[in-house]
Amino acid sequence: MPTFCADCGARLEERIAFGKPRPVCPGCGRVHFEDPKVGVGVVVELEGRIVLGQRAHEPKLGGWSFPSGFVDAGEVLEDAAAREVREETGLEVRIDGLIGAYSTAGERTVFIAYAGTVIGGELCAGEECLEVRAFAPEALPALAFPHDAAILKAWAARDNKENEAQTS
Ligand SMILES: [Zn+2]
Repeated sequence: MPTFCADCGARLEERIAFGKPRPVCPGCGRVHFEDPKVGVGVVVELEGRIVLGQRAHEPKLGGWSFPSGFVDAGEVLEDAAAREVREETGLEVRIDGLIGAYSTAGERTVFIAYAGTVIGGELCAGEECLEVRAFAPEALPALAFPHDAAILKAWAARDNKENEAQTS
């Protein structure tokens, strides 16, 4: 929450505005809306395995999760997703499609998960990961975030659907 008005610098007060308590400027009347943040992540497939990174920072320091990060304003979602994979794992990916969008009541980040396939690069931990590794889908470590299991399940269902389509 901001403390001071971005327009006039006055100290903000919490008032009911547009149906909810929000920071409102007593000087100029500006309502300060708290916008969601957009995060993207990729279930990266590498020769039948799933690439995970071990987080080098909070939240969930030391936990394993999909390569992910925040989208810059003006950045295309798929480009942001591929950029995060490159930065965290050294791998170049092709974004194959959307897995789903995930949000939690009271939390600021909206997370959008994609499926991706490795098309180049070499597996190598970037600054944001302690370690990166490709795991067999049936032998994954415990995943760090509440939505991770749902993302993985949706990814596996998507993969099965593709296989069915190819064999039928
Ligand atoms: Zn103001």
